[in-house]
Amino acid sequence: MAHLSKFSFLSLLRHGAGKAWSRQWRDAQPKAAYDVIIVGAGGHGLATAYYLAAEHGVRNVAVLDKGWLGGGNTGRNTTIIRSNYLRPESAALYEHALKLWEGLSRTLNYNVMYSPRGVLKLAHTHHEVQVEKRHIYANRLQGIDNEWLTPAEAAAFCPVLDVGERSRHPILGAALQRRGGVARHDAVAWAYARAASAYGVDIIQNCAVTAVTRDVSGAVTGVETTRGPIGAVRIGVAAAGHTSVVMAMAGVRMPLESFPLQALVSEPVKPVLPCVVMSNNVHAYVSQSDKGELVIGGGTDAYTSYSQAGGLYVSCETLAAILEMFPSFRRLRMLRNWGGIVDTTPDRSPIVGTTPVTGLYVNCGWGTGGFKATPGSGHVFAATIARDAPHPLAAPFSLDRFATGRLIDEAAAAAVAH
Ligand SMILES: Cc1cc2nc3c(=O)[nH]c(=O)nc-3n(C[C@H](O)[C@H](O)[C@H](O)COP(=O)(O)OP(=O)(O)OC[C@H]3O[C@@H](n4cnc5c(N)ncnc54)[C@H](O)[C@@H]3O)c2cc1C
Repeated sequence: MAHLSKFSFLSLLRHGAGKAWSRQWRDAQPKAAYDVIIVGAGGHGLATAYYLAAEHGVRNVAVLDKGWLGGGNTGRNTTIIRSNYLRPESAALYEHALKLWEGLSRTLNYNVMYSPRGVLKLAHTHHEVQVEKRHIYANRLQGIDNEWLTPAEAAAFCPVLDVGERSRHPILGAALQRRGGVARHDAVAWAYARAASAYGVDIIQNCAVTAVTRDVSGAVTGVETTRGPIGAVRIGVAAAGHTSVVMAMAGVRMPLESFPLQALVSEPVKPVLPCVVMSNNVHAYVSQSDKGELVIGGGTDAYTSYSQAGGLYVSCETLAAILEMFPSFRRLRMLRNWGGIVDTTPDRSPIVGTTPVTGLYVNCGWGTGGFKATPGSGHVFAATIARDAPHPLAAPFSLDRFATGRLIDEAAAAAVAH
C-alpha cells in the first residue's frame, strides 16, 4: 500500500519513545472530477473505495460525506456479526463478509477488534424452536456453522442467562454461531479510511451531495455538493437511511423506508457476559464491550422518521425484556442512548447493484443488520462498479427484484435481521 505507515510492535515502541503519530488519512480537498464518486463515508462506502483501489486499480476516487466519516449508522450500531441467515443468497453474502472479517485486521494493518465470541439466538416459543432448527439445518447445508443448544447448554455457555421456567420469556433453547461476535465499529471505518487514503482515495467530510447531474442521454456526469460541483461518470450511493433522498436526485425511486433504530449502553462493569445474546421474540440483544459497558439494542420505531432520537417506549420495552432474561442486570444504570436511521426494504434484504441510470450504482437496504456485512458489501460493490456488472454474490440483490418478484425474504425468515 502506498504511503501507509505500518503499525507493528516496533512502531509502537518508537512512538512510545516519543515519535509523533502521523495523521491516519489525508484531509482531502475536492478536485474538479474523479473516475468514481462514492456518496456516504460509512463503513460500506469506505470499504467500497478501499477495494476499488486495492483490487481493481481504480484510485481516482472520492468518498463524500455530509458529516464526518463513520458518523452514520456505522458508528451507531451494536456491532453484532454473524452469517447464519436463512436464504442461500443471504447466507452466501454474509458468509463472504464473515470470512473477510476473520482476516481484516491483518489485511488493513489496523486492529478492528473482531472478537468471535459466539452469537446466541434464543428461542422462547415452540414456533421459534422450529424456526431456529430449520435455520441450523439450512446453514449446515450451506457449509455455515450453527448449532442447537438446550437450555442447560445455553446456560453453560452464558452463565448469566436465566433459563428458569418461571421467566416471562422462558428459554426453550438457542441457536449458536460460534464464529459470530462483535468488532469495534469506529475502528472499522477508520481502518478502511486509512487504507483507502493510502491508495490515493480522497475522503471529503462535511460535503453533502445536493444534486446528481446527468447528460442528455441520462448518464450521470457528477454531483452538486455544499462544496461545489464535482464531476464523475460513475457514482456509487451508500447513504443508508438517506439513500432514497440521494437516489431521488437522479430520478430513481427506491423501495425503501427509513426508521429510527436505537441502542443504549450501561455503566461499565467487570466481565459478566461472554457472548452476544439475541432474542428476536422480545426484540432485544446485548453484548459487553471491552470497556465493560453492556451494549443493548432493540427494535425500530413503529413509524418512519428521520429523527435520530427514537421513541422512549422502545428503549423501555427493550430493557424490560433484557431484565427478564438477565435478572442480575436489574441494578445497572444506563449511561446513554442514541439512534440511527436505518433503510429497510420490503423483503428485509439489501439492494446492491446497477440502476436504470447509466453510471449510477446503489448499495443500501441493509436495515438493522448491515454492520456485519461491511467488508463483504464493500468488496462486491467495488467489483460491481469496476466491471459495470453485478458481482455474482450481489446479483440476486438487484433493484429490479421488486419488479420481477424474485424477493429474498429474510423478513419472514428471521423477523429481525441484526
Ligand atoms: C442502533 C443501531 C444498531 C444496529 N445494530 C447492528 C448490529 O448489531 N449488527 C449489524 O450488522 N448491523 C447493525 N445495525 C445496522 C448497521 O449499522 C448499518 O446497516 C450499517 O452500519 C450501514 O452502513 P453504511 O455504511 O451503509 O451507512 P452509514 O454508516 O449510515 O453511512 C452512510 C453515510 O452517508 C452519509 N450521507 C447521507 N446522505 C448524504 C448526502 N446527501 N451527501 C453525502 N453524504 C451523505 C451519512 O452522513 C453517513 O455517514 C444497527 C444500526 C443501528 C442504527
